[in-house]
Amino acid sequence: MPHQAQPLKYPSNAIEPNIDQQTMEIHHGKHYNTYVTNYNKALESAPQLDGKPLHEVLSNNLAAVPEAIKTAVRNNGGGASNHEIFWDLLTPGGPKEPIGNLAAAIQSTFGGFDKFKEEFAKSATTRFGSGWAWLIKANGKIDVMSMPNQDSPYMEGKTPIVGLDVWEHAYYLKYQNRRPEYIAAFWNAINWKVAEDRFNAAK
Ligand code: MN
Repeated sequence: MPHQAQPLKYPSNAIEPNIDQQTMEIHHGKHYNTYVTNYNKALESAPQLDGKPLHEVLSNNLAAVPEAIKTAVRNNGGGASNHEIFWDLLTPGGPKEPIGNLAAAIQSTFGGFDKFKEEFAKSATTRFGSGWAWLIKANGKIDVMSMPNQDSPYMEGKTPIVGLDVWEHAYYLKYQNRRPEYIAAFWNAINWKVAEDRFNAAK
């Protein structure tokens, strides 16, 4: 069973004006789909990984992945996993600020939502070139970090809770070089119920 590309659960214009329809269509329909296609292609030579959940394949720095396909799985399996988290977080509706247990963790770890947003934005702004900014959970604690390319927090035993794609393909059509504006718009688009569920499910 190849990994199935996850359809968007909402119309591609649902996140306007924060993320424009054309960007969503190219990002989901082309970029994300290519990661899924190339991930499945890489796995053709490793049937033992077939059907394994993505986060398990990525875990422990891809320890279960044969050397010959490690880079392909890192880039494309990571790309598939990261984007699937991102599409979910952008689900329209829901609270626009953290709720529940995640709100409490953000309060005690960062000293409030505004402080957290500052840390996260700094991480997203200073990631040089392509990559992602993350809010992660590991051993019951949360932290902010960024990773290059399509690397996934799962590779380091961390569970991604909130992720922002800062590849130029994610924002260039609307924001061009203005990555900070795109980061600011992300706060209007994120569904914190999704983040809360991810937090509660993570160790
Ligand atoms: Mn992307």
